[in-house]
Amino acid sequence: MKTNVARSDAYLRQKGIKASFQRVSIFDYLHNTTAHPSVSQIFSDLHPNIPSLSRATVYNTINLFVEKKIAIPVQVDGVEARYDLAEPQHAHFHCATCGTIYDIPVEMGHAPKSLEGFEIHEAQLHYKGLCPSCR
Ligand SMILES: [Zn+2]
Ligand SMILES: [Zn+2]
Repeated sequence: MKTNVARSDAYLRQKGIKASFQRVSIFDYLHNTTAHPSVSQIFSDLHPNIPSLSRATVYNTINLFVEKKIAIPVQVDGVEARYDLAEPQHAHFHCATCGTIYDIPVEMGHAPKSLEGFEIHEAQLHYKGLCPSCR
């Protein structure tokens, strides 16, 4: 997939962070993957192309992204934390057999009946079970 560094740069600035080359690279990496990578995975994929990148920088950048609501941690039991971009908001399905984390589209803005009168800003929905190829 093609990256768009100029647009990522503008997005990061709009979220109030200085768009350094390394931050933009990590943002683009998250933008172009559906793997929900861990910090180790991001580091080992990007490091060959960006030799100056350290694991600590990846870790600190991800924490900054989470703090600024650019990225979210994806809850997976017993393994290293996994991450995804916060937008567009979506639910996750985690397969217990193959470990794949699937993105599930959710319709935002339409509150379920039980939440009538509430104003929703964020929703996190996490499914667990078996994916079609593991059933
Ligand atoms: Zn599966
Ligand atoms: Zn996701």
